Amino acid sequence: MKSTRILLSLLLMSSLPACSLFSHEETNEEPPKAEASAPKEHSEQKEEEHHEEKAHAVHWGYEGEGGPEHWGDLDSKFELCKTGMHQSPVDLVFKKPATGRPIKTHYSDSNVTIVDNGHTIQVNFEPGNYITIEGEKFNLIQAHFHSSSEHALSGNLLPMEMHLVHKSESGDLAVLGVILIEGAPHSIVESVWRNIPIQKGASKEVNFKINPEDLIPRTRTYYNYIGSLTTPPCSEGVNWNVFNTPVTVSKEQILAFRQLYPQNNRPIQPLNDRKTVNYK
Ligand SMILES: [Zn+2]
Repeated sequence: MKSTRILLSLLLMSSLPACSLFSHEETNEEPPKAEASAPKEHSEQKEEEHHEEKAHAVHWGYEGEGGPEHWGDLDSKFELCKTGMHQSPVDLVFKKPATGRPIKTHYSDSNVTIVDNGHTIQVNFEPGNYITIEGEKFNLIQAHFHSSSEHALSGNLLPMEMHLVHKSESGDLAVLGVILIEGAPHSIVESVWRNIPIQKGASKEVNFKINPEDLIPRTRTYYNYIGSLTTPPCSEGVNWNVFNTPVTVSKEQILAFRQLYPQNNRPIQPLNDRKTVNYK
């Protein structure tokens, strides 16, 4: 009788620490490092949204458990985010421009819809706009925004970056990147911000047209390299073209975007065996 009781209590004792042992094994990673740039009041607001999401699954985002350093572990489809060797964004270091690779734009006034997709503000374009790079045609699908910039220019992140995402018939992606700095207000950005849908996930048709030509700088010198999507699934083979010359948006326009998305830029990725070429 006595020995049974001892055995029972031994069993109970040994079963208790088992749980904490397992959870300990699962969390042997370093705690996520906080990003430096997000102002405090915004990160608190984001924290609340995060708790709601945690109820079902960890959703990708830009901080905490869903942050960029964990993207590759959140879903097997996101594996390239941690194993890929040709990832974006990268640091673009200025070199004297090489000649001979003009990007030809075939853009015109277009109907658009504006979407708040929960990760950024996105402008979807009706079909008809395209660019050609070395004879290959890429159709413009959408433009969206990041804060701060994703690409660095000679080691410096800038206030914002806009990506114009194009896709070829065979599914290849080419992105035009436009660095946005503080200065004179941008009239198209103003119109877009005024028409952001109230609900995340919603889209809004607007009664004005946008010519994508008005979103990119007049000086067309740009950095080219082959990289990836800067959001999960981090697919590679993306033809990146980031203009050297920034476009201005006002301080108010930057702050208005940051009210919704205080920080949605992926950290700089290693260049590895790639080269970036500055073309004009
Ligand atoms: Zn982007």
